[in-house]
Amino acid sequence: MLIAFSSKAQTYAAKMLEERGVKLHLGTRVKEVGSGHVVLSDGTRIPTHTVIWAGGLKAASLSDNLGIKTGQGGRIDVQADLTVPGLTGVYALGDFANILGKDGKPLPQLGSVAEQSGKCCAKNILLDIAGKPRESFHYLDKGIMAMIGRNSAVAEVGEHRHELQGAIAFAAWLGVHAALLISTRAKIAAFVEWAWDYFGGARGDAILDRSEELQINWNDDRK
Ligand SMILES: Cc1cc2nc3c(=O)[nH]c(=O)nc-3n(C[C@H](O)[C@H](O)[C@H](O)COP(=O)(O)OP(=O)(O)OC[C@H]3O[C@@H](n4cnc5c(N)ncnc54)[C@H](O)[C@@H]3O)c2cc1C
Repeated sequence: MLIAFSSKAQTYAAKMLEERGVKLHLGTRVKEVGSGHVVLSDGTRIPTHTVIWAGGLKAASLSDNLGIKTGQGGRIDVQADLTVPGLTGVYALGDFANILGKDGKPLPQLGSVAEQSGKCCAKNILLDIAGKPRESFHYLDKGIMAMIGRNSAVAEVGEHRHELQGAIAFAAWLGVHAALLISTRAKIAAFVEWAWDYFGGARGDAILDRSEELQINWNDDRK
């Protein structure tokens, strides 16, 4: 859980979730999801009709069809300049690529990694065209944050990972995500929606209002 965060932040998140009635099964994987149940790797069978999968990202299926050996999550290993080894003029980036960070470990699948690697790739294509040597990608780590629930979040700010927890991290999460929205209108709409949710205790526009979505046919195996 929250693999990219410190063990202190992980312990805090677990405590907050348990206080909200969440039962955690740590150190085990999901082995099978069926209609009406989930089986864990330790053999535990959980009867349920509702499964929400948040088990991580996999690269788009295109990576399986390129004839290149893929790494973790079906992602493609790239060189420091984001090119794919052995394929001239081919770049892989964002969630599609295993891009190594300063510590030699793959960078996480984050919007900031995708955005920064996109800019580096664009620059390298221009350098290619100009016949100049490509530049290596250097990720600028501005930190990570995760929302847990009302008044609780964890954040590790900046390259030195200054840790925040609780209401301060919750406010920081809202502030950063509002700031990242592209228009003033979207920012105001987000704040109104969040205030409605926070003070009114009711969800806003995200609720489905299509009657045909309200019933799920568990015997329908169509993909
Ligand atoms: C639920 C969720 C929450 C997230 N929250 C955060 C967050 O809070 N902060 C954060 O930094 N990151 C977050 N992420 C991760 C972030 O969204 C990704 O890291 C980022 O979008 C990766 O960008 P990308 O351009 O590499 O891939 P994507 O944004 O996935 O774009 C890839 C595009 O390629 C298209 N595509 C796929 N296959 C093909 C094909 N064969 N031909 C043509 N097009 C194709 C796809 O349809 C898609 O539009 C979240 C991800 C998820 C799923």
